[in-house]
This record gives sequence, C-alpha cells and structure tokens, in this order.
Amino acid sequence: MSDNLYIGRFAPSPSGKLHIGSFLSAITSYIDAKHNNGLWKLRIDDIDSERSKKIYSENIIKILKDFLLDPDEIYYQTDHLNDYVNYLDRIPKEKTYFCECTRKIISTLPQHDIGAIYNGRCLNKNLKYGALRMQMKKINFSFDDLNLGLIKLDKTHVSDFIVRGKNQFAYVFCCVIDDYLQGVNTIVRGSDLVFQTFQQRYLQELFSFPTLSYLHHPVLYDGKRKISKSDQDKEIHPDNRTEILVSMLKILNQKIAPNIKSYKSILEHAIESWDIKAIPNSTRINLC
Ligand SMILES: [Zn+2]
Repeated sequence: MSDNLYIGRFAPSPSGKLHIGSFLSAITSYIDAKHNNGLWKLRIDDIDSERSKKIYSENIIKILKDFLLDPDEIYYQTDHLNDYVNYLDRIPKEKTYFCECTRKIISTLPQHDIGAIYNGRCLNKNLKYGALRMQMKKINFSFDDLNLGLIKLDKTHVSDFIVRGKNQFAYVFCCVIDDYLQGVNTIVRGSDLVFQTFQQRYLQELFSFPTLSYLHHPVLYDGKRKISKSDQDKEIHPDNRTEILVSMLKILNQKIAPNIKSYKSILEHAIESWDIKAIPNSTRINLC
C-alpha cells in the first residue's frame, strides 16, 4: 500500500434509517475517495447503546449497496471498546477532571450554535466520579478546510469537553480513535461537525496521531430545520436512486452527465468529473 493512498470514510449512527441528509455525506465522501483512487470505509457509529439498533445498521449497509456505494471495510465501534479504554488511559490525568453537571445545569450555561459553552464549573472540585472532561487549554484555533477555507475559532467559545460520559465514551473521543485505527486520512462530512474538528484535532495531537484533511460540506436543511432521522419522508429508497443521485450532484454543484440515463453511468461520470472547488462553500443548503 502506498503511503499516499487516500482513505476516507462514512460514519453513520444506526439510530434510524438512512435519510437524505446523511446520504449527502455518504455520496460526497464516496465520490471524493473514488475520484482520488482511494479507499472508502464504512464505520457504524453504534457506541450509543441506547439509540443504536441492529436493524438500522443493516438498513444502512443494504441501502449503500443498492446505491452501488461498496465500502472497502465495515467497522463497528462496539468491537473497539477495549481500544477506547486503552487510549483513555493514555490521556495524562492532569488534563482531565470529573464533572457532575446534569443536563439541566448544562442547559443554563451560555449557549452558542456550536453547543453549550462549558464554564469549568467542576474544574476545581476534585470530584472522584462523573463524566470525564478534557481541558481544552492549548488548542489550535484554526485549520484549513478543503471546502470552507480557513476556519477560526473564537477563544470565548472554547470549552472543556466530555471524553467519557457517566455510562459510555463520548462520540467525539471514539471518532478520533476510530479514524486512526481505520487509517483514515481524509474526512468528508457535514459542516455541523466543524466545531468537533477542533476538539478532535486536539486529541489527535495529544496521541501523536497524523494530521488529517477535512472537507465539511453544507448540511441539508428543510426551511429552517436541519433534516434528521425524525423526517420519515426524507428516507431514501433505491427505487428513486437515479433521481436522488442527480439531486445530490446538483446540490454539490457538480457537472451532470448529459444524455446518460443509467444510475451506474451517472455515478461513474460524477467520480471522473468530480470538482471539490465547485461545492458550495456554505455551511447549510436548502433541499429544494
Ligand atoms: Zn461540571
């Protein structure tokens, strides 16, 4: 394997059927990987044991196959619990502290569109139990996104983040370990995860993991609302796969093959003519 081999991924959580918003991430990451002759790996983000269901991971895998998006690897977070334990042990204790704040307390903290800004309420309490928070003191405040350009973080928005909740590991932490274990070097995902990128890059540096490239694409909105799993009318069906692919390519402002009718040929043409510079460099976009 070449050192320069592109390795990308799609990491859905199986807490519902695959919907159009999530499918945009699948298609964007797949086409970008294949345009770069790379591998495209699937990760089932099933760390949240309460919300994850096997029936949904099966649905996701089936739908991707029906859309000819064949993963080069299928990885389940639940197979890697020992890895999370091992890496958590490597975080120097003085960089973390326990937090006892309830959801109710967190909801009273200053809110920003990136989430609640944690004010270090438990930093000096020397608690012995609770959720484990990382101190985010020495983070890099900017990075270059392949779509959005230079992204800067306002220092007042930096807040200590949870790496392990009371009952399970936090998504933001697992994701860093998973990307490393899967050899991922390019992350293509929705712009709703831009802020997590700062937290994840901080952890990557802490573990001396390689620096990754990021491309955050616009997230699909229906009016003022982000499309989510609760929008059952936004589930996708292979019967309409050509129509869905064409509408995704239009959203991504890509050239669509003229006079080509078959799904497979449209997908192949999209891979060949893929142009990341054409992707709208906005954080959200409306589904027309
Ligand atoms: Zn707290």
